[in-house]
Amino acid sequence: MTRKPLTADELNELVAGFGKLSRNLWWCWDQEAQDLFQELSPRAWQDLYHNAAAVLHEVSDYELRVRLQDAGFAGRVRSVLHNFEAYLAEKKTWCHQHAPELHKNPVAYFSAEFGFHESLPIAAGGLGILAGDHTKSASDLGLGFVGISLFYREGYFQQAIDSNNWQTEFYNPVDPQNVPVEPVLDAKGGRVVCEVEIGMSRVHFHAWRVNVGRVPVYLLDTNRPENEQHFRDLTLRVYGGDSTTRIMQEILLGIGGTRLLRKLGVEPSTFHMNEGHAAFLTLELIREKMASGKSFFDALAATKAQCHFTTHTPVEAGHDRFTPALMDYALQGYHASLSVPFADIMGLGRVNPTDAHEPFCMTVLALKVSRAANGVSELHGEVSREMWKSLYPNTPVEKVPIGHITNGIHLLGWMKGTVRKFWQKKLASNGDGAVKLWDEKYGHEWAAAINHTDFWGKMADPEFVSDEELWALRYKLRRELIEFARRRLLLQQHRVTAGDFIRFDRLLNPDALTIGFARRFATYKRAPLVFHQLKNIVKLAHDKHRPVQFIYAGKAHPRDDEGKKFIQQVIHLSKHSELAGHLVFLENYDIHVARQMVSGCDIWLNNPRRPLEASGTSGMKSGCHGCMNLSILDGWWREGYDGTNGFAIGHDSHPDNIAEQDRVDSANLYQTLTEQVVPMFFDRDAQGIPRAWVQRIRRTMVTLVPQFTTDRMVKEYTQKYYQMK
Ligand SMILES: *Cc1c(COP(=O)(O)O)cnc(C)c1O
Repeated sequence: MTRKPLTADELNELVAGFGKLSRNLWWCWDQEAQDLFQELSPRAWQDLYHNAAAVLHEVSDYELRVRLQDAGFAGRVRSVLHNFEAYLAEKKTWCHQHAPELHKNPVAYFSAEFGFHESLPIAAGGLGILAGDHTKSASDLGLGFVGISLFYREGYFQQAIDSNNWQTEFYNPVDPQNVPVEPVLDAKGGRVVCEVEIGMSRVHFHAWRVNVGRVPVYLLDTNRPENEQHFRDLTLRVYGGDSTTRIMQEILLGIGGTRLLRKLGVEPSTFHMNEGHAAFLTLELIREKMASGKSFFDALAATKAQCHFTTHTPVEAGHDRFTPALMDYALQGYHASLSVPFADIMGLGRVNPTDAHEPFCMTVLALKVSRAANGVSELHGEVSREMWKSLYPNTPVEKVPIGHITNGIHLLGWMKGTVRKFWQKKLASNGDGAVKLWDEKYGHEWAAAINHTDFWGKMADPEFVSDEELWALRYKLRRELIEFARRRLLLQQHRVTAGDFIRFDRLLNPDALTIGFARRFATYKRAPLVFHQLKNIVKLAHDKHRPVQFIYAGKAHPRDDEGKKFIQQVIHLSKHSELAGHLVFLENYDIHVARQMVSGCDIWLNNPRRPLEASGTSGMKSGCHGCMNLSILDGWWREGYDGTNGFAIGHDSHPDNIAEQDRVDSANLYQTLTEQVVPMFFDRDAQGIPRAWVQRIRRTMVTLVPQFTTDRMVKEYTQKYYQMK
């Protein structure tokens, strides 16, 4: 059959569609869309770190038009664009049914960081990843939602390890031309510019819009010619610089962010502060109300009714505190516009408002000026009520108004392509009952159904997916990770010799029980804990019949020398102990590395000092890939673990003494590892299948995967906190 060449109109339409697609992060959770960009240039896709906008720039307009004359390719493009447009236009979302009022008055979600995709590195860790996942699910659910953050033009740091195994940091400029952001323009096509008072200066800023499916996220950027250089650099880096930079970034985020929304005509029903960094927005809301005639007292009460606050950590350093002098300095210009004594403002950030020496705490401000607040797991809710009870002196601790909503992940965004394709094929080939039932219930929108308990409930059924198939999938994913790690480790060499190519292809064992640990190297996460029993771990690693290996990754905060020492220890062991070859450290942990690791490892290790891991989310990313958690009963795992769906370290309690806790936890970790994990993994039947292990994987998928999603989480936020009853 000969096909007619595309007409000029058809071509123009596809080219324009391609451009629009590359500038909406929807592609980062649509497998077919990613496949298109990869097909355009497999090499650029890899080298440009899966950045669709940059890949499209690599391909000339002429080449694109020629390539689209390939009918197969054009057909796939058309189908993806069709799905994309249908997604954008969808009018039957969960929120259309359950929270239509939020379309007119959306939720404004303020966060100092957002982690959407590896090509836009403006997140430092779990907080940002959660914000990104929250946004993606808000889009999927059709929630009225806008995000606010900063445009860090050097992003978060890239990690390199020097010859002393010490972490060093470097920065790659983020080029707005080459990432999926668009300038925010007014009706005449000029940039929307706002101002905010910082110190004694008026600082100008403009904004970039990130399209995340159906919802916008605005990134504020002070890099404007009107500003002095040090203000132009205010938005250079995520949490860059000292506390002066920090407070100025936070003034911009909270006060500037609110002003931008006003300028854009957005009238939020709720201002959601994701962590205390954004809490200055409450001051701006108070100022607005006083400017229209309200008293301070009334303005405060009305502002309180508009705000919601989520706290994310019991770790002290995670709560910004500013000295009275710094507050006075940074807010002097702004304060002039507020007809309130400065002491009253300071009082809003103090546990004891009359203590002139108490620093100003952003968490206290957020708690005092919000109608409700929450922690991010059941245990963290409890811990937070205890932590902040002095703010509510006449309230018994269990009545302190801090609830909880347990975190989740955006499933489709985290599910590796290999696995998405596996489930899709599975559904398609199960021709008879399964697919029919599926089609009737959900239509062909399997993407929408992936969050449903029905889908994961099927994993209990060997008729739907056999032990053999699941085990084969595990092998495939482990191999993909090992090959990824080998390439990364080779590239990590300061000098590569010809022999290295072969040497590195022998690293790591595709048959070994593979244990992953990848997190920020905050000391409370205790990265080296498992190596406290070094001799025993070496024995496990060297067992010919039941080998165990470890893959580590993670960044320490640039000023956290203790965290850097942990990195140094792990790398040292990986190079100079008997664990060499059985333990590797992958540099530059980010979303891409995380996705490879949570999918390829068999065990996801989590051993924080309880109860400091407020929730943790990386362990939630593992389940849909059949990787299981081995974790302290802290954060989400205390709720998730039921005795059949992974492994627990120790009990639902912990000693108060830190040294004692470390000793007990390390012993318990070793015990669970040797008495449960290793034997179960290597207990193979005549067909070579570890039946009990695979059964546990099924339980993981049935009980955990649909539970710990941002789909569930955003619905909870909406019904519990966003909707004013
Ligand atoms: C998921 C994720 C995190 C959060 O992990 P925790 O479980 O909270 O330690 C941090 N960084 C990256 C890159 C992630 O993908």
